[in-house]
Amino acid sequence: MKPHDGMYIDGAWRPAAGTGTITVLNPVDERPVGEVPAGDAQDVDAAVRAARAALPSWSATPPAERAALIGALRDRLVARKDEIAETVTAELGSPLAFSEAVHAGVPILVSGSYAELAATHAFEERVGNSTVYLEPIGVVGAITPWNYPLHQIVNKVAPALAAGCTVVLKPAEDTPLTAQLFAEAAHEAGIPAGVFNLVTGLGPVAGQALAEHEGVDLVSFTGSTAVGKRIGATAGAAVKRVALELGGKSANVILPSADLAKAVNVGVANVMSNSGQTCSAWTRMLVHTDRYDEAVELAAAAAAKYGPRIGPVVNAKQQARVRGYIEKGVEEGARIVAGGPESPQEQGYYVQPTVFADVTPEMTIAQEEIFGPVVSLIRYEDEEDALRIANGTVYGLAGAVWAADDAEAIAFARRMDTGQVDINGGSFNPLAPFGGYKQSGVGRELGAHGLAEYLQTKSLQF
Ligand code: NAD
Repeated sequence: MKPHDGMYIDGAWRPAAGTGTITVLNPVDERPVGEVPAGDAQDVDAAVRAARAALPSWSATPPAERAALIGALRDRLVARKDEIAETVTAELGSPLAFSEAVHAGVPILVSGSYAELAATHAFEERVGNSTVYLEPIGVVGAITPWNYPLHQIVNKVAPALAAGCTVVLKPAEDTPLTAQLFAEAAHEAGIPAGVFNLVTGLGPVAGQALAEHEGVDLVSFTGSTAVGKRIGATAGAAVKRVALELGGKSANVILPSADLAKAVNVGVANVMSNSGQTCSAWTRMLVHTDRYDEAVELAAAAAAKYGPRIGPVVNAKQQARVRGYIEKGVEEGARIVAGGPESPQEQGYYVQPTVFADVTPEMTIAQEEIFGPVVSLIRYEDEEDALRIANGTVYGLAGAVWAADDAEAIAFARRMDTGQVDINGGSFNPLAPFGGYKQSGVGRELGAHGLAEYLQTKSLQF
């Protein structure tokens, strides 16, 4: 795809009002791969107006028709799967096979799930003498991060369209080309003009203008906690709906009865995947003190295998940030058993897959989201201790529990303050609600729960 030098507004690519540009770099070789316009408040305003104008007709479109159009969008994503994978690889640096399977594959699954849900969801229900109508909230401002560029877009746009909302998307600065490709796919699918609009630009300029715009009814944001708090405050002041998907520091709890080798290997793979840039990554591995040394050895060996297979992190700032955390871990007394802060090569934003042993729960690397290929092994004395450590951060997004039988793991998972837990390696479910307890966020994405975020209720009594 050739990058567009305009914004996708009201069904067409239009010249940007903002005069700046954003150069996208390939994290593998630090070379430019494209340039997009940096939109300003005027671009955002034009996009919100287009979305408002399209709202009455889109919200009145029968759900089956909306479903058919989301299905057509899914088909366009399937048709352009290779191009999506290549674009994500160019912007994010992820290995091509991973881009194909995950960065392109998962959004296809999710858009397919919303094509089905739009057709089958009960948009009205009878409660006593009332009929409750589930109506679209209105215009959605979607602000997305770079870590899973297309997934984060589809997670918001597909349910919003299924609900009958119209959307203005402001994607991350690092990965706007994938967003442009998505806009092309939406256009090709026949999504009506104004229903989906794209404004590329800087967070504090275009992102902020979108979050503050009075024509936006719901702001759905995924990204850092710092920006999420600001967006939540802005939305709160305007009594506007807000959905926040912020970071995590998820615990991988390996109970004494578990298959240790399997739990450690899957746990390390979970963190190294996407070079550690996954909000739900199990970055804290909790191991019983009796099996701790064995787990450390297994984790170090597992991480060593990853070296050449993981891609770089997204940009120089993230690379410096992750390396800074690794140095901080050493300063605070943790022990590196694989990897380290040094860059493995001169060119590209690479970070070594790193494993820390002797990490205590209060250390910075056990409390803050690093967003890089770094896993911390923490020892626990007994189950109560494990639970206290697992629940002992401000976050609560995901997690894992391993035990000899599922029932034991489930009993533990039920006591964890977190939104999702994989039991003995349970696999990703695109219909399961995803979102945070505590400071990991507000609201849920995926499946019927994700759709409900874009609906409001009206009760008629008769
Ligand atoms: P960020 O929060 O700055 O960016 C996310 C999105 O918000 C981008 O589209 C950005 O342009 C926009 N944005 C930035 N400032 C804004 C503002 N003032 N108003 C409105 N929108 C704004 O995240 P980042 O700097 O790209 O990454 C920093 C850290 O965030 C990472 O190291 C990681 O810890 C965390 N993060 C979490 C997730 C997640 O999925 N939860 C994703 C990416 C990053």
